[in-house]
Amino acid sequence: METIYSATKPTGKLTLGNYLGAMKNWKEMQKDNSCIFAVADLHSLTIDIDKKTLTDNIYKQFATFLAMGLDHEKSIIYCQSHVKEHAELAWIMNCNTNFGEASRMTQFKDHKAKDKVVSVGLFAYPMLMAGDILLYNATVVPVGVDQMQHIEICRDIATRFNSKYGDTFILPKGVVPKVGAKIMGLVDPTRKMAKSENNENNVIYIEDDDQTIRRKFKRAVTDSLARIKYCDEQPGVSNLLVIYSRINGISIAEAEKHFEGKNYNDLKSEVAECVIKEIGPVRDKMNELLKDKKYLEELMRIGAERASVIARKTLRKVYKRVGLVGIY
Ligand code: AMP
Repeated sequence: METIYSATKPTGKLTLGNYLGAMKNWKEMQKDNSCIFAVADLHSLTIDIDKKTLTDNIYKQFATFLAMGLDHEKSIIYCQSHVKEHAELAWIMNCNTNFGEASRMTQFKDHKAKDKVVSVGLFAYPMLMAGDILLYNATVVPVGVDQMQHIEICRDIATRFNSKYGDTFILPKGVVPKVGAKIMGLVDPTRKMAKSENNENNVIYIEDDDQTIRRKFKRAVTDSLARIKYCDEQPGVSNLLVIYSRINGISIAEAEKHFEGKNYNDLKSEVAECVIKEIGPVRDKMNELLKDKKYLEELMRIGAERASVIARKTLRKVYKRVGLVGIY
């Protein structure tokens, strides 16, 4: 049995990329493992985000976790800011990370190149994330490929800490799906499908209605080669094949075979329909759950209490290891 930790940031609306890259596996994983799923709300403050949007996103992400079938009695489902140990361990992580290694994080460098203002929080994001994982002694962290570098730095920090202060942290393993570890945009398949995207047509959101999903797939970029093959020259077609195979749990080769003799319109409409079948019920249930915020808050409170028990224990051990005096 593994201890699984995974989270999403409420910086925007959840995308099909989040779902296929990380979340789709969660429901299956919770059957035989000890799972902790978080809405990583503190991470959202690393960028400039409107407060009402942030609040809405937090409720929506929490509701989506429940709507997709996560069991709040079996797994721990909570919001990061409700467990104060995250911010505390992040400080210890910051103090055990070299400036140089943190500067090498590509997500930070990308933001720095693009954004006008870059916060110290954004720079420190990987250390907050390392603490998130290490607080719960996670052995496995399901992520998309974009987060692998952050898992690596988490392992590096934990290794360094263990050798300096004695065995404290378990080294987590980042796990990416064989297919779907990086879902690309629909109109620009050279870019990752991202929450922060400006062009809405590039992204499928979990909350999109059926007609919107159909319309977006209709506009998806293919090419002029008129064949349905997974290859570098056809990033758009390849991305659609990835989505189809990930949703249907089949290999790319099987997906190619399925579309043999069919045209791009068939491909787009079949992919759209399988996406609707997969995420439509999640969206409907999420909307239903959002009508009762008090219920969501009650589940957030229960999740936070359960998470805190584990987090407190780890933090006390860490404080003791580094030489702080406990007065518990
Ligand atoms: P985020 O909240 O956007 O940082 O991401 C939550 C999870 O979704 C992380 O494990 C990411 O690696 C994953 N993810 C985000 N975008 C994509 C994408 N386009 N394809 C695959 N996985 C993704």
